[in-house]
Amino acid sequence: MANILLSSERNSYGTDRPYTPLNAPELQDIISHINEEHIDELLGFLQVFTPISTAELNNIEVQLTTVYAEGIDIQVQSKNVEYQSITAKNQFDQSQSFFIAFADSITHPDELQVQYIALKQKADKKLGKKTIKLTKQVFDVQDSYRVSKNMLRLQLSMPIPSNASKVERAASVPTNEAGYAYLFDLDHNALTQEATADTTDSSEENNLRPARSHCYYTLRKAWQTSTDMQALVDVFLHGDTPGGSWAQSLQSGDTVVTKREFPEKTEHLRDGQALLIADETSMPTVARLLELWKNPKPPLVICVTQDIADQCYVDAIKMRSSLDGIDNDNSDTDSECNTESRKDNHFTVLPIVTNQANSGAELATLIDSQLGGYLTHNPLQIDKVWGALEANTAKALRPLLKDRLALSRTDVVVKVYWRHD
Ligand SMILES: Cc1cc2nc3c(=O)[nH]c(=O)nc-3n(C[C@H](O)[C@H](O)[C@H](O)COP(=O)(O)OP(=O)(O)OC[C@H]3O[C@@H](n4cnc5c(N)ncnc54)[C@H](O)[C@@H]3O)c2cc1C
Repeated sequence: MANILLSSERNSYGTDRPYTPLNAPELQDIISHINEEHIDELLGFLQVFTPISTAELNNIEVQLTTVYAEGIDIQVQSKNVEYQSITAKNQFDQSQSFFIAFADSITHPDELQVQYIALKQKADKKLGKKTIKLTKQVFDVQDSYRVSKNMLRLQLSMPIPSNASKVERAASVPTNEAGYAYLFDLDHNALTQEATADTTDSSEENNLRPARSHCYYTLRKAWQTSTDMQALVDVFLHGDTPGGSWAQSLQSGDTVVTKREFPEKTEHLRDGQALLIADETSMPTVARLLELWKNPKPPLVICVTQDIADQCYVDAIKMRSSLDGIDNDNSDTDSECNTESRKDNHFTVLPIVTNQANSGAELATLIDSQLGGYLTHNPLQIDKVWGALEANTAKALRPLLKDRLALSRTDVVVKVYWRHD
């Protein structure tokens, strides 16, 4: 249980009464994670819950400094006095703190996630943005098969009640979104297997429980039939790991359960010259982005794989082209590695094959230098970036890309999809 102390008196916006600090050692890691990966959410909180104007938001640096039982403190400071607009000028020359209140007080960091998500949902709703959902969904497993050497496709379905309205059908599984991710409950299948296993051997029982109980995987594609929703999920297999073993153990007729879902941040790709960067875990997002591409300019795609045999996953994607009116169909293909389909592509793939797990700052340097080499021979002004990689690669790559491409924070979205340990 956290040690709860009373804070000293404070005098910044929204902090007109003392709040209760949570003294838990794990909070520092959570705060660092939010400051590294979720700055856009903090900006959303400031936009919705404080009087800071949109013009000012473009000129400030923000960071989460403290988590109290009753809410969070976000510190705001001017980015660079030279570039400030007149309205924003001198507003935050001194750093200033803004308190954002939780709906319900917390007593332990374990409860922070629920309150943080509630703030995000409220802020996104006010900003008209799609948001994270804490909904339980149950899918039936229909089939599973490899679509490239190390990529296992799960074919799932979800029955739709015959009396469901059009809106209810559309809301159940999104058919037109790239990077829509589900948090799969790995424990659900472990518990089902336990129930059917011989319960006399308790050590064997314990072995069935995965080392991690949840794992995010992206909806590769979904479509509606007359009776159900069909969904594809592609799982990268890299040795004997909880997510991969879970996916490989699934049999036709099993159910899988998801507990949370959230939309990917890709709105900035609607116009301008885009660069997409994927490793094996984000290839499904990039594939769907290409199929649903609405930007008149085709993107440049950097595809990093450990094994050359997995490159065909992206090579084979048919891009929806607003240039020639080719529309993506929603039919499933047995394998992504069908080179015939390449003839409709208008995007360029810059493949990088590393022959090792794709993690760490060195990979960021490699991606940046390969991009630099490509741009020297193919002059192209990149306006927008979306990518998702390992945590240390993403962290090292963001500043390299901002420098090389002279882009702002909002135009370079490089997400963390996994962590190397
Ligand atoms: C929003 C989102 C969407 C995602 N979508 C997909 C998706 O569609 N398909 C997909 O396959 N993954 C996807 N991921 C990534 C997936 O959730 C992680 O890779 C997850 O950690 C895999 O779990 P695991 O049990 O395989 O390995 P973990 O339990 O995370 O790790 C076990 C071991 O494997 C290593 N490891 C983990 N991931 C990799 C990797 N990619 N390459 C090499 N070594 C690794 C770790 O360092 C560790 O040593 C997504 C992640 C997020 C956040």
